[in-house]
Amino acid sequence: MSSNSAFSMLTKKFPSLESFLLLVSRHASHLARQRYDVIVVGGGHAGTEAAAAASRVGAQTLLVTQKIKTIGALSCNPSLGGVGKGHLVKEVDALDGICGRAGDWAGIHFSILNRRKGPAVWGPRAQLDRQRYRQFIQSELLSTPGLTILEGSVEELLVTEPNPEEHGQHKVTGIRLAGGSLPISAGSVVLTTGTFLSGSLFMGQTTSPGGRIGDAPSSTGMSYTLRERLGLKLGRLRTGTPPRIVKSSVDFHEATLHPPDSQPSPFSFLNTHTHCKPEEQLPCFLTFTNPGVDNVVRESVHLNCHIQQDTKGPRYCPSIESRVLRFPGRRHQVWLEPEGMTSDLIYPQGLSMTMPPDIQLRLIREIPALRRAEIQTPGYGVQYDFVCPTQLSPALQVKSTQGLFLAGQINGTTGYEEAAAQGLWAGVNAARAALSMPTMALSRTNSYIGVLIDDLVTRGVTEPYRMFTSRAEFRTSLRPDNADLRLTLKGFEEVGCVSSMRYKGTVRVRDSLQEAIAALQDVSMSIINWRHKLPHVPISETKTGILTGSELLQYNDVSFETLAAVFPECLSAYREFAQRLKIEAVYRPLCIYQQKEMERIQKEESMSLPQDLDYFSLPVSLSQEVREILDRVRPTTLGAATRLQGITPAAIVNLFNYVRHSDRKLKRMQRS
Ligand code: FAD
Repeated sequence: MSSNSAFSMLTKKFPSLESFLLLVSRHASHLARQRYDVIVVGGGHAGTEAAAAASRVGAQTLLVTQKIKTIGALSCNPSLGGVGKGHLVKEVDALDGICGRAGDWAGIHFSILNRRKGPAVWGPRAQLDRQRYRQFIQSELLSTPGLTILEGSVEELLVTEPNPEEHGQHKVTGIRLAGGSLPISAGSVVLTTGTFLSGSLFMGQTTSPGGRIGDAPSSTGMSYTLRERLGLKLGRLRTGTPPRIVKSSVDFHEATLHPPDSQPSPFSFLNTHTHCKPEEQLPCFLTFTNPGVDNVVRESVHLNCHIQQDTKGPRYCPSIESRVLRFPGRRHQVWLEPEGMTSDLIYPQGLSMTMPPDIQLRLIREIPALRRAEIQTPGYGVQYDFVCPTQLSPALQVKSTQGLFLAGQINGTTGYEEAAAQGLWAGVNAARAALSMPTMALSRTNSYIGVLIDDLVTRGVTEPYRMFTSRAEFRTSLRPDNADLRLTLKGFEEVGCVSSMRYKGTVRVRDSLQEAIAALQDVSMSIINWRHKLPHVPISETKTGILTGSELLQYNDVSFETLAAVFPECLSAYREFAQRLKIEAVYRPLCIYQQKEMERIQKEESMSLPQDLDYFSLPVSLSQEVREILDRVRPTTLGAATRLQGITPAAIVNLFNYVRHSDRKLKRMQRS
């Protein structure tokens, strides 16, 4: 059954979805005394993907979350995707995750960011209807076979003492809920507690315990077990959210209109169109801060304990206070974004703040478009514990504790997409471990999820981590358009988290693309003939010989349609893949080059690395961190360097080229 039909079936059967959820919760509490293969703690973005993925792999799974009605809640911004983050959504979808389809269902304004750059770094993004998003995720989980949902707060993680026969590791055995209930046992537990682990909320000079406004924090017992019993290193991070503004009180004519794309592009490879029709989409608006805003911030610092503790704030999504204090006199963007199709609220992205509510109102009214604005809910800040992620394996399992997996904000990341991506992978591995299958890792060369996890477990975080395309060394091959070819086949054949329906669809796409690429190679002509057929294409005057259709498709002015018009009998069958074929043709030479480089390096594994290399002054592109690792470890061969944690494939390529070049230079000097 498709997810959309599952949704309509449920809403017809149960007029109030929440009433149905409560029913399920009661049912689940009966079952809760049983043993599960996997228990997922937390129903946020990481937890929902983890629970669904573990069930898809075949594990009997229990999702325990504080409030069923907040499953899939968007704590902060009502949007999904963007530059780098959009890649993660496409990859989660390619592995049969939920968030991409939820975005297609709930999106009310779709746009591809970064269009001026190449398609490899385009950022699919959608403004979401909060309620629809939550409902889709809830209905999807309810129709997931093998998944039980239970409302409750996990008070304690049950673990064994370290076992000398198991490399001195602890082992997780289950959980205990608040309220003194019986323990629930499991083979694996996935913790996805978000901003709730020992969470505190900040507004003005007031601090209160909480994981999100209206929600209690996770019990201190959980932090205690992680820190004291398992000996894990925990840190403290902070983030914040803006006030929500009443839509009817905004003067939109004082801001600049930003329309959506005229043709919304779905996130999911299963969808050909979005639920929202192109003409129904809502616009966003852009405005800016001004010196009046700066004055309010400066005058109220003494009333704002969140900003007094740390004026810098997180680098990504910083508060307006930290922006003004760090960059005095600069104007900052404020995006006015709709919170839903029928919602009377506006989310002012860029105005996250923690000052007292009356001062928040004074501040926003300094902006002309918000001169009459009314605040529905004030902004606030949150501080929470996170577990330093270098203590995890690439499967997202805690190295010192068998069967314990962590995903999402608890690992020091920020954002729904980063949480969803980790959640899916932790859920897959928790299920595999519980079902006695080996855990698995994704690589930096096959996915942004691989990049994200590798960055976390090898480098750790000092501030909330978010995804950017610049973090991926192989971005020309890790594109949003080909996430299905990179991951769906692997997800079905090796991992076991992809349905056969999706798999068959991707096999058809792969075969058709291969046929189309072969057909493009076959349609070749002399350059003279191409010039005659397509006079508008600027083929260099000096070029002679034969050109294939594939080569011609690399030209800016040539689309697949152009070629299909010249060779309709060979190419018109592949029109539905026109855009993918164009992108493939443009990036193919670079991807082949990169692939060859990696293969060459694999063959040269035994290449010696000089032991007197001064890594800090090597004239090649290596990050400071990579230089420090190489200097500390001093690997003797290229292969040994490849296996070091924290050494990126790009660094290996650069090191390889440098050593090979120096060797040749030395040999030349010895000869002369
Ligand atoms: P969450 O979505 O927070 O979900 C955690 C879930 O775990 C909740 O459902 C909670 O009820 C449940 N839970 C916790 N403890 C227990 C327990 N003991 N037992 C049972 N259930 C439990 N992201 C950005 O990208 N940009 C921002 O500017 C930004 N600002 C934010 C501001 C605020 C105030 C907050 C709260 C979050 C903000 N975020 C922001 C973060 C964004 O919400 C998270 O990145 C994302 O939701 C993380 O997903 P998660 O699944 O890790 O955790």
